[in-house]
Amino acid sequence: MAKEELECSFCGRKKSETNLLIAGLDAHICDRCIVQANGIVLEESKQINNTELSAELILRKPKQIKTFLDEYIIGQEHTKKVMSVAVYNHYKRLLQPPSNDDIEIQKSNIIMAGQTGTGKTLIAKTIARMLNVPLAIVDATVLTEAGYVGEDVESILTRLLQAADYNLEKAEKGIVFIDEIDKIARKSDNPSITRDVSGEGVQQALLKLLEGTIVNVPPKGGRKHPDQKFIEVNTEHILFIAGGAFDGIERVITKRLNMQAVGYSASKSEDSIDEDNILQYIIPKDLKDFGLIPEIIGRLPVLTHMNPLDEGTLRAILTEPKNAIIKQYKKLFAMDEIEFEITDDALDYIVKKAIEYKLGARGLRSLCEAILTDAMFELPGEEEKELKVNKEYAEQKLTKAAINKLKAVS
Ligand code: ADP
Repeated sequence: MAKEELECSFCGRKKSETNLLIAGLDAHICDRCIVQANGIVLEESKQINNTELSAELILRKPKQIKTFLDEYIIGQEHTKKVMSVAVYNHYKRLLQPPSNDDIEIQKSNIIMAGQTGTGKTLIAKTIARMLNVPLAIVDATVLTEAGYVGEDVESILTRLLQAADYNLEKAEKGIVFIDEIDKIARKSDNPSITRDVSGEGVQQALLKLLEGTIVNVPPKGGRKHPDQKFIEVNTEHILFIAGGAFDGIERVITKRLNMQAVGYSASKSEDSIDEDNILQYIIPKDLKDFGLIPEIIGRLPVLTHMNPLDEGTLRAILTEPKNAIIKQYKKLFAMDEIEFEITDDALDYIVKKAIEYKLGARGLRSLCEAILTDAMFELPGEEEKELKVNKEYAEQKLTKAAINKLKAVS
């Protein structure tokens, strides 16, 4: 009987139907099956890499993100919700496996408008901590167009690299918080008069970073010079969050609202406008009227606002967040086995002073510091193991001179 022709143990093709048949111990594999198997191996390892990535980057669902933010940030419900969705979508985009449909998910860079001290930086910091990604906080006011005194926009990425301990892969998934974005607004509404170097040029330079591109970054910062080695950073997966106080934008918003009111039935819209918090009505067009160029606005598609901090919020900031100021002092005293207590009327008094002297949320800490410095100096090492601060105690420590000093720094 003729010897049976060898065949591939995987697909069953006869040896004559293949280009190559490789023999194993007691099986054979053909060239086609090898190619296919190789494809499977590559696909699998890609998936493993993806899960590794997501394991490192702790991505939660929007509601979970919001719950996390709630632990650290008081109020600002709208912004926390908007940010939770934007952050979720951004990282979903980053973690998605490559697909061949033509739907490209765009970046959800964010812009936050709100007075200083309302928690913009805090939100960016909290998000970065939650996701376990590096964060760079940069001030837009130091940035200038290439060739002028100041920092190139690339320096932003140097900071991010530093925050990521020069781990490029981590940096490329990080978050950049650009503070005081409003300070690079075009100063004049008429762009044709003179070119506004400090403002519009920087906005132009920022554009490419925001949209996602490969940037040559000087690893140690400073100006680009020919013999410095660059690191190529891809900004495609970097989430940019911009914040600014936009002083005076209320006027722009009010003007627009009033014009709308004329267009519509005036009575209907007028009485529903909350004059104390005009910022809540902000729309992208207002940013343009303020002096941001349309391209920048387009690349920061998620716009949100911060509410001013009222008495109740300031009071809650003192005691409620996970690392609330009062909790921190309790811990500091506890390290010296001192039990620290502060009465409600003392807390109310601190809030009252913060409002009276317009010190904002940052002022809360300085006020506490002024009240507690003596005790923090005297008590460690003493017999006394208890400190109870009531309103009288707080009043006594917060002399006019102490408050004036706080006003000078804030
Ligand atoms: P901004 O960036 O808007 O100027 P920050 O985020 O730097 O303000 O806020 C300053 C400080 O005020 C924070 O570190 C935090 O202690 C406190 N703070 C401000 N707003 C809030 C808030 N909504 N919840 C909790 N703490 C807040």
